[in-house]
Amino acid sequence: MGTDRVFNFSAGPSMLPLEVLERAGSEITDYQGSGMSVMEMSHRSKVFQKIFDDAQAKFRRLLKVPEDYQILFLQGGASTQFSAVPLNLIGRTGKADYAVTGNFSNIAYKEAKKYGEIRLAASSADRDHTYIPAQEQLDLDPQASYFYYCSNNTIYGTEWQYVPQVGDVPLVCDMSSDILSRPVDVSKYGVIFAGAQKNMAPAGLTVVIVKKELAGRELPYTPLMLGYKTMIDKDSMYNTPPCWCIYILGLVLDWLESKGGVEGMEAIKHGKAQMLYDTIDSSRLFHCAVEKGSRSDMNVVFRTGSDELDAKFVSEATAAGFTNLKGHRSVGGMRASIYNAMPVEGVEKLCGFIKAFDKNN
Ligand SMILES: *Cc1c(COP(=O)(O)O)cnc(C)c1O
Repeated sequence: MGTDRVFNFSAGPSMLPLEVLERAGSEITDYQGSGMSVMEMSHRSKVFQKIFDDAQAKFRRLLKVPEDYQILFLQGGASTQFSAVPLNLIGRTGKADYAVTGNFSNIAYKEAKKYGEIRLAASSADRDHTYIPAQEQLDLDPQASYFYYCSNNTIYGTEWQYVPQVGDVPLVCDMSSDILSRPVDVSKYGVIFAGAQKNMAPAGLTVVIVKKELAGRELPYTPLMLGYKTMIDKDSMYNTPPCWCIYILGLVLDWLESKGGVEGMEAIKHGKAQMLYDTIDSSRLFHCAVEKGSRSDMNVVFRTGSDELDAKFVSEATAAGFTNLKGHRSVGGMRASIYNAMPVEGVEKLCGFIKAFDKNN
């Protein structure tokens, strides 16, 4: 099994560990003697409840989520949280601060404006989102109901290397593309959310970690399904949760634990990214526009400066078994997404391919 697999550098949905796919495959028609697939089970059954509880407990253990935080397994993607965050949190003062460092934080910022007075606390648009603003550059309002940022900018290839210090204002973070790649001090946050399809599980699951004391003060017209209180009270089972994705998440968390957890993963992913950046920086043809100190360990963007040569690179790479290296349509160039499941070997081989292309063109 798995011999024809490519090195898939997709930004998301993206690679899952081979062990996880094989395990899911072996259990697909009969989950542990239940006589049925996880896809066919009632979410209220004992068998599924155990899958759910185990996944939640493993997540709590791996990311060291304190007991006063609820881990929710929801649907709607990270994008639904762009609305859920202001609806649930802005009621306290009617104001919120946003740091816009890329595409998704910009969408979140625009969406939040429907619900209150939203300030731009920082922006990296002046230099095409090639850097992360420093702490001193954050323009903070102590009256804000929360401060919002996106820890890893999937399209622009930048990543916050520090946790913003915002006083008593609750921190809200979109960690869709770097969650579980490094330790996080969850106690510094009010809400953390992430779509699963980058670093955790198949598309269809959104993990939301909420400090429980912040829930229950949603705007009166908040849709029932977007209220954190609704989902906290029912432990994510107000309606049918994304059962299959939660099961796969559990398998991914077992795999992560075998790799040394998020602490182990931090060293591995940093080594992979460093190897790729070194290869790009020392090449003749390729360059990475992202400033050192702001570069993402998850999404590595690079280009040659010639659209023609970029296209040639992408097509030759695809033929050689390195797929989905084309950059996002809004920025062009190339992007190698090297999430947790990308083996070190995949990055080593890609570096070899880049070096050969650099020599031959
Ligand atoms: C992919 C992505 C999103 C959008 O996620 P959906 O689950 O498709 O809504 C939001 N934020 C970040 C940082 C992303 O990488």
